[in-house]
Amino acid sequence: MLKTLLKTENLTIIAIFLGIAFGYYFSNLAIDLKIIGDVYIALLKMLILPLIFASIFIAIVGLGSIEDLKDLGIKAFAYYITTTSLAVGLGLIVVNIFNPGADMQMPLPTDSHITPKELNAHDFILSFIPSNIFHSLSEGQILPVIFFVIFFAVAALNLQEKKRETLYNFFDSINDAMMVMAKWIIALTPIGVFSLIAFTVGKNGLKPLIELYSYALTVLVALFIHATVTLNIIAFTIGKFNPFSYFAKIKEALLIALSTASSSATLPVSIEVAETKGGVDKKVAGFVLPLGATVNMDGTALYESIAVLFIANISGVDLSFSQQLIIFLTATFASIGAAGIPGAGLVMMTIILDSVGLPVEYISLIIAVDRFLDMFRTSINVWGDLIGAKLLNRFIK
Ligand code: ASP
Repeated sequence: MLKTLLKTENLTIIAIFLGIAFGYYFSNLAIDLKIIGDVYIALLKMLILPLIFASIFIAIVGLGSIEDLKDLGIKAFAYYITTTSLAVGLGLIVVNIFNPGADMQMPLPTDSHITPKELNAHDFILSFIPSNIFHSLSEGQILPVIFFVIFFAVAALNLQEKKRETLYNFFDSINDAMMVMAKWIIALTPIGVFSLIAFTVGKNGLKPLIELYSYALTVLVALFIHATVTLNIIAFTIGKFNPFSYFAKIKEALLIALSTASSSATLPVSIEVAETKGGVDKKVAGFVLPLGATVNMDGTALYESIAVLFIANISGVDLSFSQQLIIFLTATFASIGAAGIPGAGLVMMTIILDSVGLPVEYISLIIAVDRFLDMFRTSINVWGDLIGAKLLNRFIK
């Protein structure tokens, strides 16, 4: 009994509740103790780029052929797009039913200076290609690094067997060492999570949550339905596995996503739990999870569609069906473009608001609850990635 309780994942759950209480009653101290949470996140972040590099490389070279890579890549993207669109669709249905903010009149803050993020196709395409890979690595630019390593691994597939093996063994050893480091850092999770949650509650309090409860509740209900109905049905029918027992095995990653609000920071843990506890092959986890953490964000896409309709409601604008269709498309793409860091979804939302002519300044009205909702949408982002990894595992030889 005591042994079970002392397992890291159970201690983490206890730490979440203790963190809420501590942050609520000792808010100043909780804010001062943020350094602990920051150290924990920094330790996780430290692993991200070497891990992405090594895991994608060995995944692709381990697959053994470009045909197999193409097959896995196409299936992964089909999964990402399908689940993201289902998430946005669900968000739009739930928000139209709940209609949060319809009876609310909120004055526009006068001091907000928010300008919409520009979506420029030329820069967007070029942003994938690193002109200097070392610069991209040092700047932590994940997408160009992924682009480079895929290219590099495909080139390695074309080398003589001996050379290919040398490279494979080198990156495989790096990957294993990263996994050992990840395990050590994971052992610190309860302390890190306690500090992060206490800080969030200490800083924001629970007041904004009460004021914006109808909006927050709509997002939470839709996220819950997506996680437990949509994704579970996909797991049972296409993945042919039981998502509940899988959840029990990988929940550590979801708890970390919840407290860090960052898919990228959670990535080392997602890979570790998927491989060691979730029974996902190294080739699949190493490819699908880093990619998913960067482009597959069901929770973010869903939240964006709801937030935009909420903003429309409080601005007294009635959005037509075709405008909602525009939201459907832009929310899907904005979530793909969002980075796996806290608050990225909120920034990308300016694109969606702009696309339907809504005031971007209204974003400042929902900032107060954003960190709280970010915690939950990030968990669903990571849950979507982990379901995808397990599902695609079925199709690998
Ligand atoms: N924090 C989210 C993530 O890391 C992105 C977002 O802000 O929605 O997955």
